[in-house]
Amino acid sequence: MEDFKNLIKLDLHCHLDGSLNVDSVFEVLEKQDSHYEKEELIRKLKVAPDCTSLTEYLEKFDLPLQCLQTAEGLKRAAYELVRDAAQENVRYIEVRFAPMLSVNAGLNCKKVLESVIEGLESAGKQYGVYASAIVCAMRHHSLEQNMEMMRVAREFLGDGACALDLAGDESGFPTHLFRELFLEARRLEMPFTIHSGECGSVENVKEAIDLGAKRLGHGIALQKSLELQKLCADKRIGIEMCPTSNLQTKAINSFDEYPLGQFVKNGLLVSINTDNRTVSGTTITQEMQIVRDVLGLGKDVILQCTKNAIETAFADDSVKHELYKEIS
Ligand SMILES: [Zn+2]
Repeated sequence: MEDFKNLIKLDLHCHLDGSLNVDSVFEVLEKQDSHYEKEELIRKLKVAPDCTSLTEYLEKFDLPLQCLQTAEGLKRAAYELVRDAAQENVRYIEVRFAPMLSVNAGLNCKKVLESVIEGLESAGKQYGVYASAIVCAMRHHSLEQNMEMMRVAREFLGDGACALDLAGDESGFPTHLFRELFLEARRLEMPFTIHSGECGSVENVKEAIDLGAKRLGHGIALQKSLELQKLCADKRIGIEMCPTSNLQTKAINSFDEYPLGQFVKNGLLVSINTDNRTVSGTTITQEMQIVRDVLGLGKDVILQCTKNAIETAFADDSVKHELYKEIS
């Protein structure tokens, strides 16, 4: 167990709202006059071990979003996430969130971004972590909303924000509906990852590759197509895998059918990530243990996945060189 704790780690797929510190949520909600017993709150924030559906999983995000409606709340959440991740030796983290879900009468999109970035940078400095933000367009939002968010975020590219993502209901809103958004992202030279193939749609994976995604979130559906696997390997597209979350949302029925080992063998640039540290009740250390102890893969695979994470990170070469140096 200890050997993983000391390894340097990267987390490329980690949602802010799914990774809030439980004690802080308790405190913030108390201030908002929402009173919960600690045990009850934990039940509302974390999925049960026998979680059977994506719907049950998604319900866990209601309370966290209530804590992300003020500049202070956003900053605090971002700060604490980086601080908590640093405890397990995470040295590089890309924290994703949907700015538009925090926009309200008193908070515009720019302020939302500034607040999160301030929290990330302040904890990053204090704990020695490279931390930046990925902004999520939402599948159920209008094109105008997503475009507006992206244009605001573009101003922060290289200055706290590192990329764009598309999150939300993948089967209800397939990726081809977002062509215009990603064409504009390309025009603005905003790199992007796309949640793809979490729910089994290989078409969404294909579309994401065609649109020019540098990485795919989850990518489980790639197991249905050796041809697309080869294409991803050739284009050096990163595959952000999140084992615990994938089991909880029933993207897979059991770890017996988890394709991580197959993907690595076929040359895909797989990285190991948390998705939601609090909702899934996990850490990178725990995910690495699953890869070793449950999937039965060697430490060499875990090290390869760490190298893949460095290669596919939305970071400057100087940061990547630093990280490579630390793992060699
Ligand atoms: Zn995700």
